[in-house]
Amino acid sequence: MYKSDSSLLEVKGIGEKSLKLYQKLGLFTVGDLMHYYPKGYERFEGPKKIKELIPGETAAVTCRIVSSPSARKTSRLSILTVNAADDTGMIGFTFFNMPFLSKLFKPGMVFVFRGTVQTKGPSFLMEQPKFYSPDEYQKISGMLMPRYSLTKGLTNQAIQKALKTIWKDYSFEEEWLPEDLLQEAAIPEAEPALYEIHFPQEEESALLARRRLVFEEFFTFLLQLRKNKDDAATIPNEWPMIETADTVRYVDALPFRLTKGQKQAWQEIRQDLEGPQCMNRLIQGDVGSGKTIVAFLALLMTVANGYQGALMAPTEVLAVQHFENVKKDVEKYGLAFKPVLLVGSMTAKEKKLQYEKIASGEANLIIGTHALIQEKVTYHKLALVVTDEQHRFGVRQRETFAGKGLQPHVLVMSATPIPRTLAIILYGDLQISLIKDMPVGRLPIKNCVVNTHFRPKAYEFIANQISQGHQAYVICPQVEEGELDDAENVVDYAEKLRAALPHSVVVEYLHGKMKPADKNRIMEDFALKNIDVLVSTTVIEVGINVPNATVMMVENAERFGLAQLHQLRGRVGRGEAQSYCIFISTNESKETMKRLEILNASNDGFFIASEDLKLRGPGDLFGIRQSGEFAFRIGDVYADAELLKLTSEMVDDLIKKDPGLDHPEHARLKAHLSLGNANSVDFRTI
Ligand code: ADP
Ligand code: MG
Repeated sequence: MYKSDSSLLEVKGIGEKSLKLYQKLGLFTVGDLMHYYPKGYERFEGPKKIKELIPGETAAVTCRIVSSPSARKTSRLSILTVNAADDTGMIGFTFFNMPFLSKLFKPGMVFVFRGTVQTKGPSFLMEQPKFYSPDEYQKISGMLMPRYSLTKGLTNQAIQKALKTIWKDYSFEEEWLPEDLLQEAAIPEAEPALYEIHFPQEEESALLARRRLVFEEFFTFLLQLRKNKDDAATIPNEWPMIETADTVRYVDALPFRLTKGQKQAWQEIRQDLEGPQCMNRLIQGDVGSGKTIVAFLALLMTVANGYQGALMAPTEVLAVQHFENVKKDVEKYGLAFKPVLLVGSMTAKEKKLQYEKIASGEANLIIGTHALIQEKVTYHKLALVVTDEQHRFGVRQRETFAGKGLQPHVLVMSATPIPRTLAIILYGDLQISLIKDMPVGRLPIKNCVVNTHFRPKAYEFIANQISQGHQAYVICPQVEEGELDDAENVVDYAEKLRAALPHSVVVEYLHGKMKPADKNRIMEDFALKNIDVLVSTTVIEVGINVPNATVMMVENAERFGLAQLHQLRGRVGRGEAQSYCIFISTNESKETMKRLEILNASNDGFFIASEDLKLRGPGDLFGIRQSGEFAFRIGDVYADAELLKLTSEMVDDLIKKDPGLDHPEHARLKAHLSLGNANSVDFRTI
């Protein structure tokens, strides 16, 4: 009998080898896998005619083999080419390292081939298509097939098989949500919903299942948030401050004038810090609006008052960048910061040294990643905690510090364009400062959405920008081959790019699986201009600031959420030079082009989010989720905004009626929550 916390190794069919693959995806237990939701679904549509195919789409065609397959060999590969036709046209298929197929495909035989449609000159092509007998295909035709995030060596089918095995021998706990809540939210029970999300019958029931799981996620999250909520307005300011000359001097010395929005935000923060109550404030401003300097000012005021401040970033790369910038400004402007850096890649010895400096108060500014700041650190008059790119964390820093008996002022920064009503639900009772304007003198980024044929031109363009002293980013969806079927990967792409660009151009790559120290070194080299082109995954999506970079090129742009693409684009256009963004789409379907067109048309995050939502519609099973926003696994604060509001009201109601969840009908609910259940929100750091 499997239990939620059984190791995946106990599941029949999963051995040491596949266990390693699951672990790569962060899956260790049976419960982890059951709550590893598909990132989307695919429908096995009925076969098309060849002339109806659209490059980039995944499609099936029924066709007849017209000639014996031809085989050839390179040093690494054996390549088999099969030509086929229907009454509307011709198509070619290539298979790698499957020479035995030459015996199978005989002229005159009919198969259904399914794969990504490509073009080669005037004709259509599929590489490594799946193939079926027409009867076989008929059986699966019209079915919804889940797609999971994979890693090389692990397939969708393998995951489904493991889930099937688990289901055969799993005893589910009784439904933990009270009946009246299920009814009010109009959602099914847990067990069938979980099954349906992995093995959907049809779209409608899958949407309902999704609704249940989203509700569950929001509900647990909000209930915990409310339970821990210390009404910020009622917490007295334990760290009252006065304005000192430091911040005024800093502002005057900067090479630019603060924008209206920055001034306003800074004034609101100052008032909070001087006022009678503890600050709990969000600075919301689009990418590039200049939130960092406002945070630095708040931190400077804090240390000038003799207190300690902390700045947390979601990635080590970003923490290091902040640290370097603070150090530079300390030197340049003689600021009163005594900063230390605290990140995972440091040795135990280095960390210990930092802990001592923090505990003694020798350091007055701690910059680091989220996890480390929470760890064994003892602070010395910690008066302000700033969290950069808040939406990546989950939302509960305040509670974390409160749990340590600390009550610092809290300032969170986010570029996520969420409406005020949602922000209030997600963050609790916080104040919001909105930076609406961009620094003056910025040229709007020039965008283009193109297909892969444009690559040679794009490379020429990049080479040209580099010869003018600028730098470029190229983003690929995956780290190495095979995680996402045929998407571009960072490692091979860097190699390709080195061959395509002039010798003198220095190309390096960066991805999340590299050792932190290596990541930091590459980022530093890029900032120092020792690297011209950085090929990277989305690890650089948040916060990175290298104003000299003027080109952002995104491969397989169709695979990213619009919010994410907007964040990526925000890495350029940070200086005075004209910047460019090239979105390369491998899929030319109408929907994709429409989506990417939104980015092309606007550089405004709020506009993009709302247009994106219009296109996706609420609860879209096939749409692309925004990445990692608020660390929800399945809930999408934009698309599920209505459900989020409803859940919030229901949670308020529940707490009003039964604050301790002591009524007998809430017993299972209470037990479920206190178990720290697998399905509670995952506050991971990235
Ligand atoms: P974000 O809001 O995305 O975090 P940053 O704080 O990183 O943006 O700022 C982006 C760039 O703009 C930085 O290079 C910063 O020095 C610069 N900057 C910030 N404020 C201004 C301003 N008022 N005028 C000109 N440049 C500014
Ligand atoms: Mg930033």
